Order: sequence, then structure tokens, then C-alpha cells
Amino acid sequence: MIDTHCHFDFPPFDQSPEDWLSRSHDAGVHHLIVPAVSRQNWQRVDDLSQCFSSIYFAAGLHPVWLSEHQDEDIAKLDAWLATSPKGCVAIGECGLDFAIENPQQERQLYLLREQLALAVKYKLPVILHCRKAHNELLQVLNDFPAVYGVLHAFSGSEQMGENYIKRGFMLGIGGTITYPRANKTRNAVSALPLTAMVLETDAPDMPVSGFQGQPNSPEKLPLIAKALSELKGVTVEEIIHSTSQNAANCFALQRQISSFA
Ligand SMILES: [Zn+2]
Repeated sequence: MIDTHCHFDFPPFDQSPEDWLSRSHDAGVHHLIVPAVSRQNWQRVDDLSQCFSSIYFAAGLHPVWLSEHQDEDIAKLDAWLATSPKGCVAIGECGLDFAIENPQQERQLYLLREQLALAVKYKLPVILHCRKAHNELLQVLNDFPAVYGVLHAFSGSEQMGENYIKRGFMLGIGGTITYPRANKTRNAVSALPLTAMVLETDAPDMPVSGFQGQPNSPEKLPLIAKALSELKGVTVEEIIHSTSQNAANCFALQRQISSFA
């Protein structure tokens, strides 16, 4: 299994990362993609990827960390990507979050557009975060028809999922679907095609049902695969096979690994 969205550069994973990884490996999670949230994290996720062959990373400017970003970070990201850093498989985490305090929508839109332009320039997928801004995000994406990637933490209606799939995006399926009360998202996920889904934990955030109050970790990914298999009416093996292939295709991991499962 591939955890396509795990903030492994955050606590508690900074303590004994090798133990967390070996437990994840034992649980069947063999690869992680770690998206960085701000310039301060780029080197950390790069270092993790160099230390551990099971870790890939993405570099970007997350809208929730808006106050940390400087205009020059875009030029720095551009210059860094120009060096083709090994293990860098995407741009992200980027996107729009209009639910934060003082969202400065114009500034968020500016930083997003600049990162989408870099995705085009370097032919990399993007990992998108979005809260309370789906109409705006889809509108921006219309200006970047070549951009593809993953809409992280999909939650919403079937129509919304379809809008992203039509635009060439995979849906990141996480712990939300393990909550029986998340009816809208569960119904949407049952109806939408498995060919457009990848698995993610968003650890240490987004605990799966039954584990609220503890930090989430990549070893919980099999619980999400199981919930997805129940919603789709297919075996867990089928879920693991399909979502791993989808992730490998989207992030071009086949260049880097021989076994995706
Ligand atoms: Zn994230």
C-alpha cells in the first residue's frame, strides 16, 4: 500500500522515525509520500527521503501556513526544482483554504497560481488542499489544463468528486470514510470510480474512526483500505492493487520502485 499523504516530518514521527516506518511496513504500507507545508520543511522532507528509500516527498507552500510564506519562496522553489531533487514526486501541499482566520484570498490565489505554473514547467503532479473554496479552486484549475494530481482529503458530493476527476485529478481517500456519520462522502465514494482513487492517512491528522484523540499514523492505512473495500463491494486486495497502481501512475513511481503493493 502507498500512503500518498503523510506529514512524516511532523511530531510524533520525528522521534524514532525508523520504528514508525517498520511498524507501517509490517502493516503493509511500503511507501509514503510526504508533502511539505512551507519552505522551512523542504529540506526536512528531502532529508527523510534520502534516509529512507520508502519515502518520497512533495515541496510546496500550504495555504494554512500562509503567514510564513514569502514572495521569494516561489523563486526558491523554482530554483530548487530545477536541480531535479531525487525523490521529489510532486508539488504540494498547495491549494486554497478559505476557512482559516484572515484567509487573504487574493494572496492564496497568487501563491496557488505560481505553484501550478511550476507544476506545468516541471511536468509534476500537484497535491491539492481545499477547504471552503472548491468553486474557486476548480476555476483556477481551468486556467491550467495541463495540471493533474491529487485532491487530498476528498470529502463531499459525488458531483464534486466528478468535477475533479474530469479535470484529471485523483481523489485522496482518507479516514473520513471510516466514520459512519460521513454519509455524503461515503455515498460519493461508493458511486465514484476506483480508477480515480488513492489512499492516504494525512497522519498525524485525521484520525480514523475509533482512534480519535491519538495521533494518526501511516500504519492505520489498512483500516482505510478496508472501509473502502466495504463501500466499493470489492476485496481489500483489489483496493490495494488498484489504489497502488493509481498512485504509482499519478506520481510516476514506477520509475523509482518495482513493487507498488
Ligand atoms: Zn496535508
